[in-house]
Amino acid sequence: MEQAGGEQFIYCSAEGCRRIDMICVDLHLHTRFSFDASINPRYVADSLNAHPIIKGVAITDHNTLEGYSHVRRFAAGYPDVVIIPGVEVGTTLGDVIVLGVLEKPAYWASLESAIDFAKARDGVLIVPHPYRGGGIRDAARRIPNGLGAIEVLNPDSSEEENKLSESLAKTTNLPGVGGSDAHHVFQMWKAYTEVDADPNVDSILKAIRNSKVKAVLAKA
Ligand SMILES: [Zn+2]
Repeated sequence: MEQAGGEQFIYCSAEGCRRIDMICVDLHLHTRFSFDASINPRYVADSLNAHPIIKGVAITDHNTLEGYSHVRRFAAGYPDVVIIPGVEVGTTLGDVIVLGVLEKPAYWASLESAIDFAKARDGVLIVPHPYRGGGIRDAARRIPNGLGAIEVLNPDSSEEENKLSESLAKTTNLPGVGGSDAHHVFQMWKAYTEVDADPNVDSILKAIRNSKVKAVLAKA
């Protein structure tokens, strides 16, 4: 059943109600193609299709896009889900994620070169867990140009680290996004981002650039 909820349109089913003018996307998930993760690509596609709320995922394996291509293949039969290509790489200042690209930036190069890489391919650069090990920390304040968003909600980070990330997003005027950073099945879908977008990759990336996002911690 569809009903108007203020400005928003709400779809209600047995699982609950959700807005249909936005899509919930886990913007940070690893498959077994990451050296430190175990999730099978087929399971990502099946689980996303079965999920009552989250309908999009960015596959952000360490230094490879192989997991993405497998998830995309397994999700081909599911018209309601969106699979976003992405990759997480270390730079000399810390980790970054580039979304919307089909190749990876140079490993362990400068942050500036990762920014240039993303720009040249119309990708969106996200700063994951800035205040955890491997995070770029306050470097984001010095080099905010070219950064697309700050990950302000990561279930693997402490509350304090997430708070610092939130304040980094505010002071740099960058959108704050959330993702599970799942490496194993039990960590999947624990955080996500509500995106005011149509259910396709281009619309989602555009909405992130335009700050039409809200980071959400999944209810236990
Ligand atoms: Zn990660």
